[in-house]
Amino acid sequence: MSETTVTVIGLGPMGQAMAAAYLDRGYEVTLWNRTPARADALVARGARLADSVEAALRANELVVLSLTDYDAAYAILRQAPQALAGRTVANLTSDTPARAREAAAWLADHGAVQITGGVQTPPPGIGSADAATYYSGPADAVAHHRAALEVLTGVEYLGEDPGLAALYYQIGIDMFWTGLVGYLHGQALAAAHGISAESFLEHAVKTMDFTYFLKFYAPRIDAANHEGDVDNLGMAVASLTHVLHTAEESGVDASLPAALLDLFHRGAAAGHERDSLTSLVDVLQR
Ligand code: NDP
Repeated sequence: MSETTVTVIGLGPMGQAMAAAYLDRGYEVTLWNRTPARADALVARGARLADSVEAALRANELVVLSLTDYDAAYAILRQAPQALAGRTVANLTSDTPARAREAAAWLADHGAVQITGGVQTPPPGIGSADAATYYSGPADAVAHHRAALEVLTGVEYLGEDPGLAALYYQIGIDMFWTGLVGYLHGQALAAAHGISAESFLEHAVKTMDFTYFLKFYAPRIDAANHEGDVDNLGMAVASLTHVLHTAEESGVDASLPAALLDLFHRGAAAGHERDSLTSLVDVLQR
């Protein structure tokens, strides 16, 4: 088996982009997907569709998994566990760190090695060195398959713990979802007043550039320095209350600012009213 052969299992938007990137780079690509028709365009470009999970696993040493979650991964791999021996499974499926560790152990029991991956780009970013994927797991396996992994995105190797890539990915996604829903809530408020998303865009871009705050707060969080010299939770409660009332007056669902206000109130009740917003890190950890 040459180093430019790969099996891709899972052909959602992400798996399709990955298989296409391998074809672009001249790899021999074997595919398997629960719904075979999703392979049609890739097969037309030269990929081979395996007729069973076992055939897909036996075709190549490197197997890329891109599935909805680890339940889907088990549903597929349990169809042919005997074909896992000697395989390196680059598991680019999102799930919890605990499930990533559990899957690595399960694969090891079947003679396979898992490289856990957390992809940090949507499908159009696949194939670009500017995009990145967190990886963790055995360093030698990552080094051995680095060229194949780099066909997909840049490689950010975090360490041997198979849960680490999943953890970093989930931390990032935590920030991503909460930040993005804040954007959508603001746009809903704009829309309620006839302001188009496009016309508010330039203001949103400036407001949502958190770089200054992220850098300013990080060392203070690490030092547990929640001094209220620049901001304080009391001010944040008043400010967020205005947002809540504006949403209510505008007929926009206010459950998001209400949930944040609840958190702020709990922080204030815990004695942080004159402390910085960073004191919420302590409140959230309890
Ligand atoms: P999808 O949820 O669209 O992936 C669906 C794939 O999982 C399909 O191949 C589907 O098969 C398969 N699948 C789901 N359930 C089962 C099951 N029970 N048995 C067998 N196969 C199953 O996700 P994406 O392609 O968008 O993403 C793949 C992974 O990448 C996810 O973990 C996602 O979190 C992560 N990711 C996605 C990003 C994105 O922007 N899309 C960005 C970064 C990471 P079938 O075709 O038969 O339905």
